[in-house]
Amino acid sequence: MFVDIAKIRIKAGRGGDGAVSFRREKYVAAGGPDGGDGGRGGDVIFVADPNLSTLMDFRYKTKYQAPAGENGRGNRCFGKNAEPLVIRVPKGTVIREVTTGAVMADISGDEPVVVAKGGRGGWGNVHFASPTRQIPRFAKPGLPGEEYEVQLELKLIADVGLIGFPNVGKSTILSVISAARPKIANYHFTTLSPVLGVVRVDEQASFVAADIPGLIEGASDGIGLGHDFLRHVERCRMLLHVVDVSGCEGRDPKDDFEKINQELERFSPVLAARPQLVLGNKCDIATPEQVEEFRAFIEEQGLTFMPISAATRRGLDSLPGTVYSVLRTLPEVGSFEVNYVKPELNADGARFTVTKLEDHVFSVEAPWLERILEGSDVEDYESLQYFQRQLADSGVLDELVRQGVEEDDTICIGEFQFDYVF
Ligand code: GDP
Ligand code: MG
Repeated sequence: MFVDIAKIRIKAGRGGDGAVSFRREKYVAAGGPDGGDGGRGGDVIFVADPNLSTLMDFRYKTKYQAPAGENGRGNRCFGKNAEPLVIRVPKGTVIREVTTGAVMADISGDEPVVVAKGGRGGWGNVHFASPTRQIPRFAKPGLPGEEYEVQLELKLIADVGLIGFPNVGKSTILSVISAARPKIANYHFTTLSPVLGVVRVDEQASFVAADIPGLIEGASDGIGLGHDFLRHVERCRMLLHVVDVSGCEGRDPKDDFEKINQELERFSPVLAARPQLVLGNKCDIATPEQVEEFRAFIEEQGLTFMPISAATRRGLDSLPGTVYSVLRTLPEVGSFEVNYVKPELNADGARFTVTKLEDHVFSVEAPWLERILEGSDVEDYESLQYFQRQLADSGVLDELVRQGVEEDDTICIGEFQFDYVF
């Protein structure tokens, strides 16, 4: 079965904890703090794998967890950063965040994309020594990694889409020109899902063709199967429009050709505007008059017509080369725009977390607050005012007070430390 949508949960690694440790040296009774920082948690990274063509695997394994960062150790030893978890997906997989439906990444290029970031490692106690606090018996814990429920959607990146009524010979053509082996049968809607095939042109050149299930009238209104599957061709750069010129099923090839194009236009004007090469199939059982009449009809519209027979392979040997020469003139199709905005939330859904590290020392985790701090000049009165207002408005101050903060206590925010002097 072709699986083109999967829901999975991805979780980046937790940062390692900072260490609490003190120097031990010969002849030195009590050394200073030397606890190192924890390492970063592993990211969850997605990368396109050209050898994959379905999301099948993601139906069986739905949880993905990157490793945690190593904890810091004594002697100023920093914990190692964790390796990322790399998830391989078929080229053209779009990753959406489930609750918002926003696009987090489009894995169409060769560049790996970080989708969930690992948590920061905590600072070891070596950072917390000060003239007034020579024996800091605390360190910061590592932060949790980002976690998301995501929907993977595979939009096939086929260069070429085969379209046409059921039973005109699309599957047969694909099976002849590529290594794909689509199901071939003489009844309607054989092909319930698109099948991809790699078509070799020569040693260097190849392209990907997709057999698209039959369109029927009304498909773009959601009747029948066509609509569900048409979205797979959205990224095709050109279309091979297959028509049964013999009319062996009692249909009129000209009429078929127009109906399919109307369907296409209604479903996706963008797709309808893609270049088409018209393949008149089943020439082996058509009369020369039928073929020529249809050829005239197509060429009148300024389109290229190729008479073929998938059954006898007539015309199919030169088809890959002809298609490739057209493809080379066409631009790559654009990718999806990433529009996911990460909410400024901690793991428990709050905008900040206040933790009492020990008596008189508090840690505030809030990435947005760190950014304000980084951008402000602590010597500047206005900046300081603004920062303090943010602390008050966001509720951070209330929470500090609730946890028993006192004058001159130390507040750690990211890489900054302050005395509480409100
Ligand atoms: P699809 O629904 O468009 O994918 O059509 P299929 O490839 O499944 O073919 C439908 C039927 O037409 C099958 O029985 C094929 O064997 C037959 N067929 C396909 N191509 C030709 C051809 O060139 N000549 C003849 N006579 N029959 C063909
Ligand atoms: Mg078929």
